[in-house]
Amino acid sequence: MIDLTALLAEGGCVGCRVAGRADATWLRWFRTEKHAEPQTRRRLATDLGVCPAHLRTLIAGEGPGGPLTDVLAGVVAAAAAVVAGSSPGTPGCHACVERHDAVDRELSSLLDLLTVAEVATAFAAAGGLCQRHLRRALDVGSPASGLRVVVEVARARLEEADDGTPLLTALLGRDADARRRARLRAQRPLAVDVGQPLLTQVLEELEPLACPVCRAREDALAAYLDHLGAELARTDIGRAVVEPPVLCPIHLEDLAAHERSTAISTARAARRVLLDGLAGLEGALGGLRDPGWRGWGAALLAPPAGGGRLQPGRVGHRVRDAATRMLAAPPCPACRAVDRVEQRRQQRLAAVQDDPRVHAAVERAHGWCVAHVLSARGRGTAIPVVERTAATRLAAVGWELEEARRHEDVVWRHEPMGSEALAWARAIVLLDGRAALGHDAVAMRSALRG
Ligand SMILES: [Zn+2]
Ligand SMILES: [Zn+2]
Ligand SMILES: [Zn+2]
Ligand SMILES: [Zn+2]
Repeated sequence: MIDLTALLAEGGCVGCRVAGRADATWLRWFRTEKHAEPQTRRRLATDLGVCPAHLRTLIAGEGPGGPLTDVLAGVVAAAAAVVAGSSPGTPGCHACVERHDAVDRELSSLLDLLTVAEVATAFAAAGGLCQRHLRRALDVGSPASGLRVVVEVARARLEEADDGTPLLTALLGRDADARRRARLRAQRPLAVDVGQPLLTQVLEELEPLACPVCRAREDALAAYLDHLGAELARTDIGRAVVEPPVLCPIHLEDLAAHERSTAISTARAARRVLLDGLAGLEGALGGLRDPGWRGWGAALLAPPAGGGRLQPGRVGHRVRDAATRMLAAPPCPACRAVDRVEQRRQQRLAAVQDDPRVHAAVERAHGWCVAHVLSARGRGTAIPVVERTAATRLAAVGWELEEARRHEDVVWRHEPMGSEALAWARAIVLLDGRAALGHDAVAMRSALRG
């Protein structure tokens, strides 16, 4: 159990602090004991590892002789079975599940405690919740009085925050992965897409050491963020009128690292949208007499369907849903741009897959990562030569991981390590190249461990 009062005294969004602690605990367990537990290994195999952000956490936190090589051998074997079609592939991340559970649990306790005046004062002094955890708090199911404090503090903070870092911090909280993404992106100049014929482009895009779809996602994001900056600059000098879009927290964070002035214009738009939602919520909460739900029910909703009873003092499901809708995040245009390019790249290779030059080039190149083999399969654009190539690459890296494991054995330690020394990094790039943001294994390692 976390001491919430101590967390509040540290300042900043409590949700972000709890998330950071949950990740640190997960990483510590993983490194010391969990990785060896059969249950964890089974879970990692079924999930095909962890999400890209948690892969980056693992890489950055791994010291010499860490468990990555050992664990990845099992994940690569599981991925090979999924690519071969002999087992269903359902990528997931148990670290995210643990983090979300911890955050939800602590937000729920916080909302209960906010009925105590001193806690509410400390919460306001800490600056309330970031937009991600504000939305999470609405989803947790809270006493209406706790929710009212959260909403009031959020509104005051957003209205008072100066443009620039205070506004970005109020919206975004703390995300340790943002720094890792920025370090990865600083490693390499981005490719420029020139208008060549389809086949030439496809052949040129097949990279020797990384997934070309992952690389395309990165190029698409950079192009979108550059385009947005140029459009907003034209608006500033009166040559265009473009409303800044509302980006998701991850992409607003990426934009802040890419071009700060554009990020601040965009943050102002996010603030306006959030303040509108909060004003709606406050209006509803203002008419609510404690203890609770009756006011909400009268102001917003009919009695619960099926004759169920809402608990006095608690915000019922239907009310909570209405509140969440009021503050729903609009779709992020950067996410849409990146997903669209990913899909188009997959369709483009599918269109020329029967050309023998493409066959030969795919077999020579790195090929798609498993995440993209599976997303193409899900979209109905599975390409046999790409799937076969992924299977052969998995077999090769699986062998290297076994070799690297053998080196851990005292009997074989005198042997110099060969290509297997970096097998763990190549395995990650092959399993989910999004962890490396389209980099190859060597660049990924030096960016995250450097
Ligand atoms: Zn937060
Ligand atoms: Zn995760
Ligand atoms: Zn990929
Ligand atoms: Zn986004």
